[in-house]
Amino acid sequence: MIITLKPETPSEAADALLARILDKGLRALHMPGSDQVVLGALGEASAVAELALDTHPHVESVTPILAPYKLVSRELHPHDTVIPLGRSAIGGRDFCVIAGPCAVETPDQLRATARAVKKGGACALRAGAYKPRTSPYSFQGHGPDGLRLLSETGREFGLPVATEVMEIADVDLVAAHADIVQVGARNMQNFALLKALGRIGKPILLKRGFAARVEDLLLAAEYILAEGNDQVILCERGIRTFETATRNTLDLAAVPYIKSRTHLPVLVDPSHGTGLRDLVLPMSLAAAACGADGLLVEVHEDPARAWSDGEQSLYPAQFDTLMAKLGALLPVLGRRLA
Ligand code: PEP
Ligand code: MN
Repeated sequence: MIITLKPETPSEAADALLARILDKGLRALHMPGSDQVVLGALGEASAVAELALDTHPHVESVTPILAPYKLVSRELHPHDTVIPLGRSAIGGRDFCVIAGPCAVETPDQLRATARAVKKGGACALRAGAYKPRTSPYSFQGHGPDGLRLLSETGREFGLPVATEVMEIADVDLVAAHADIVQVGARNMQNFALLKALGRIGKPILLKRGFAARVEDLLLAAEYILAEGNDQVILCERGIRTFETATRNTLDLAAVPYIKSRTHLPVLVDPSHGTGLRDLVLPMSLAAAACGADGLLVEVHEDPARAWSDGEQSLYPAQFDTLMAKLGALLPVLGRRLA
């Protein structure tokens, strides 16, 4: 419930209302605006109704939040969330390109790729140290050694780093090395993991599950915000459909839809979304055109020798072309490369 107080409501009256909301076992939100204070009461509908706030003398209006997700919804928070990242930001005017290999492989591979994406203008370096692989016999990632190598390489090239966490037990270690902690598609509804990530102070990159509806994604994000971490970045990375020509079906219509429903920034991953490197450039431009706040894109210094996802990884020269084209397109859209 969104409770708008009348202009000039004394702050003691707002505090008393917040205390009443809390007394009911509800979550209370205090959102002071320039001329009016807005409060929020989240929780059981019956407990909210018992407050009878619409008859309170200092209350101007009481509006239910219709969406099943609350903290994530634009109804509660009309303005875009902007998440600071290094010298740039995710959301707002900035369009942020997070690029790098699928996985941390070797020091030389990571450094060469980091150098290439830095030169191309990436705002952050991505690489997995924990890899969720379909087959247990595929490379699973270097774990803690990979995290150390990633954070050292990020520092060397002045790039913030994004990397995936798969288990609650690894959250603190991953958060200590990463600037952005990624939740992969396979873990989008690992609610215990989401809750644990809601209790850390790092931005979370939440990827859409390949069988998840947009509402499922937004409710998954709600788990993180409900625990106190409001730095969540959503990522459309393709869903499973009957189509087999591409690895997944990149659901770009979801991008403007999601942005109409939530204030959180939305990235697009055209690499996992298509599985084909030649489709990464056109789908990246389309992602920018439909309002995405940035990209998560796989680049490898030598894709033919990549330990995972080589066929969807860009060559450095292709990454340069992508960034040049984005640089030309973004101003038309009122945005700029972060
Ligand atoms: C990844 O980005 O490294 C990854 C494994 O992607 P997804 O979880 O979207 O499959
Ligand atoms: Mn990958």
